[in-house]
Amino acid sequence: MAKFVLIGSGLAGGLLAAYLGRRGHEVNLYERGADPREGNMVGGRSINLAISTRGIHALEQIGIANEALQHAIPMRGRMIHDKSGELHFAPYDVDPKNCINSIGRASLNITVIQAAQRHPNVRVHFNHKCLDVDLNEAVCHLETRTGTSAARGDAVIGVDGAFSAVRKSMQLKINNFQYDENYLAHGYRELTIPPGSNGSWRMEKNALHIWPRKSFMMIALPNPDGSFTCTLFWEFEGPRSFATTNTDDDVQRFFEEEFPDAVPLMPTLLEDFRINPTGSLVTIRCAPWYYRDKVCLLGDAAHAVVPFYGQGMNAAFEDCVVLDECLETFSDNGERAFDHYFRRRKENVDALADLAIGNFIEMRDKTASKTFRAKKKVDHALEAALPGIYLPLYTMVTFTRLPYATAAKRARVQDLLVYTSAVIVFLILVLAMVWFVAR
Ligand SMILES: Cc1cc2nc3c(=O)[nH]c(=O)nc-3n(C[C@H](O)[C@H](O)[C@H](O)COP(=O)(O)OP(=O)(O)OC[C@H]3O[C@@H](n4cnc5c(N)ncnc54)[C@H](O)[C@@H]3O)c2cc1C
Repeated sequence: MAKFVLIGSGLAGGLLAAYLGRRGHEVNLYERGADPREGNMVGGRSINLAISTRGIHALEQIGIANEALQHAIPMRGRMIHDKSGELHFAPYDVDPKNCINSIGRASLNITVIQAAQRHPNVRVHFNHKCLDVDLNEAVCHLETRTGTSAARGDAVIGVDGAFSAVRKSMQLKINNFQYDENYLAHGYRELTIPPGSNGSWRMEKNALHIWPRKSFMMIALPNPDGSFTCTLFWEFEGPRSFATTNTDDDVQRFFEEEFPDAVPLMPTLLEDFRINPTGSLVTIRCAPWYYRDKVCLLGDAAHAVVPFYGQGMNAAFEDCVVLDECLETFSDNGERAFDHYFRRRKENVDALADLAIGNFIEMRDKTASKTFRAKKKVDHALEAALPGIYLPLYTMVTFTRLPYATAAKRARVQDLLVYTSAVIVFLILVLAMVWFVAR
């Protein structure tokens, strides 16, 4: 059995510790923040997030899916709010059982940490910040509340998110380490729709709400207490942007113009807007994700993606399943295990990064159009008519475990076939009309 030092007990860190603990490995998990059970999760990240098939599968493999999902709220489709306040519901899939689930980040984080701690060979150390990693020795240098310390393992796994300190050490110390970060011109800020009377939901509970406004949008996901967490995705800079909308009057005017049906549901809008931080949206690609059998990266530390496909955490959970399989298959060779894990995941999360950016344009711009709604209906009709043969891209990404790159390629082929068939049908109709008129 190996000794693993894990850095970061976020969503993927907790789950990975549970996977490694189950195999009997000795795991020391170091987290810079406080224990989330103390109830002071750092703000600025999404309070709730959508978990779907890939993430649920990873939880099922270690028997904690029911525990994690007990308070999750199924969202069966998109509820589009246009400017006049009119609503259009578009189901995610023909099969109503296929839904995404709104889940609280804090409660999910606690569930995975507790699952890890059920194994006596897993120890979690909060308030330990990784400063640097000695890659050759697999030693982490940590800052604690009282000073500094070091943690040594057979291998260090960086599960410390998009701004990973473990990855930073690799960047600095590995020749030709490839690194690319790409920020969107948009940031996000979270706002709240509080519960109605008796903890009821003031909008449709089982939907992901979208206010698409072409270059920007707001979305809202339901919480178990009857509230919704809204997220405004908006340009940082520009004539109308976070930068130029500063006074309460500006904010009120902007929301009344753009989201008039939401304003009466947001009594703390001005306060939320003033107080809550603005997050940035980054895509991170790097390679390789490992150094010999000593260091490895997983989750956002290896591949942060923008949140518009609701897959960042799902992909990070899928990483845990794959790394666990590779460590089992190559139990006598850590470097081969890390290499196989990297090769199985890299192409797929690169494909996901592109899909996620593409879906931002779809959500903020296209979901409002009749053409988009018609395309979704055609997609669902084809899926129903050709079960198992035609699968819409969203279905493949969200409701199957097909590798992301395979899903993206298959969708391109399907689209080509559908458009070619449409053109052929159109040409046949034109020829038939010409023949009919000429006759
Ligand atoms: C607005 C928004 C909405 C999102 N919505 C969804 C969604 O609906 N569905 C979905 O699947 N994904 C979503 N995501 C993506 C998801 O949040 C991430 O992919 C997921 O949190 C990645 O998990 P992780 O464990 O790799 O990283 P994190 O959750 O970021 O955890 C990293 C952990 O490492 C700790 N850490 C960092 N640095 C150090 C250090 N130096 N030393 C010690 N500890 C450290 C951090 O404190 C943290 O606990 C969303 C992201 C955003 C920003």
